[in-house]
Amino acid sequence: MRTTAMTGAPILPGATIGVLGSGQLGRMLALAARAMGYRIATFSPDRDSPTGQVADTEITAAYDDLDAARRFARSVAVVTFEFENIPTATVAAMDALVPVRPGALALHVTQDRLREKTFLRDSGFPVTPFRAVRSHGDLVAALDALGYPALLKTAGYGYDGKGQAKIATPADIDAAYDAVIGAHPSRVREQTASGPPEATAILEAWVPFVRECSVVGTRGADGGFAHFGVIENAHADGILDLSRAPAAVSPATARDAVEIARGVFVGLEIVGTACVEFFEVAGGALVVNEIAPRPHNSGHLTIEACATSQFAQQLRAVCGLPLGATDLLTPAAMANLLGDVWAAGEPNWVAACKLPRVTPHLYGKREARPGRKMGHLTALAPTPDEAAALALAARSALKSW
Ligand code: AMP
Repeated sequence: MRTTAMTGAPILPGATIGVLGSGQLGRMLALAARAMGYRIATFSPDRDSPTGQVADTEITAAYDDLDAARRFARSVAVVTFEFENIPTATVAAMDALVPVRPGALALHVTQDRLREKTFLRDSGFPVTPFRAVRSHGDLVAALDALGYPALLKTAGYGYDGKGQAKIATPADIDAAYDAVIGAHPSRVREQTASGPPEATAILEAWVPFVRECSVVGTRGADGGFAHFGVIENAHADGILDLSRAPAAVSPATARDAVEIARGVFVGLEIVGTACVEFFEVAGGALVVNEIAPRPHNSGHLTIEACATSQFAQQLRAVCGLPLGATDLLTPAAMANLLGDVWAAGEPNWVAACKLPRVTPHLYGKREARPGRKMGHLTALAPTPDEAAALALAARSALKSW
């Protein structure tokens, strides 16, 4: 098998970058790639997708269509992805023909929460205590071991807080079991793209965090590592709501976060941009929550705020080019725009655009469903708090008619 961390001649402008997945992360990668004169081809089951709208070629096929996957791989210089739930067999079929970056290892580990947490714990990174849950009896035993409160999560890659239930007292056990496992055994199993999950679910001890933060970084084909520092994140209903940079963490916590992230990138042999999400607990210690083996929502502010964006870095890494400078040129904040912003009709773009140093991004999605990520706003200001206030003011302005 081709080794995906393989170095070699760089892939130069004019070449075609293949992207598995066709959402907003692929769209922003495509825009960065076009800015540098590359072509983009996207592969997903969707048509007129956020990535497809700005790509040179949009291939519409099921992720497990191996013939289509091989045809796609033959038409591009390198494959990367913006969505991690790609079947292992598809990645292997492509990897035999063309480099896939990041490679199969990062994908395999991060597609399953149990594998991911086990990798982190066994590598010596801080994680909350956890147990595999395959049955109701396992759940009760796991709660006896970990205590309350705890969080039950599907093992197959859930996202944006989906497939999770908090268990605060024994009275919550049955409802959590039914919500996460009992009522949807086949759905849960289907969520793991790299074969049968090792467990249906995972129980995690609750982390009494004081802050959530992330490190978005990039590892080049030569092993070089660059990061965007620590970004502070606030979630609403399990979905990222607001990010600000730099995070208000101590210098020691920031150093720890970056060193853990660097270790995760090396351990997973990542070539490309990825994100490590953390909880900070009282006293400044960090606990890793999860790993995204691709650009991350919390890194969107790098487009306006950094010398090189997370997407331009992904492009450089997968093409084997030197990484760019990642300095934060100004404090910044990012507010997500979910479908809810469209609840009363077209948002008031004029009002939001009147605010200086606010940049709206829209992903080209036609249907604004509640909870669906439709776009985001980036705001630049002298401090992270002012940037956050400006991003929130701009989002409120969108809802003023
Ligand atoms: P996840 O999908 O695992 O990123 O979880 C979504 C959100 O749920 C996180 O951003 C946290 O706000 C919260 N959360 C997840 N796991 C835990 C945990 N073990 N303890 C406390 N809160 C959690």
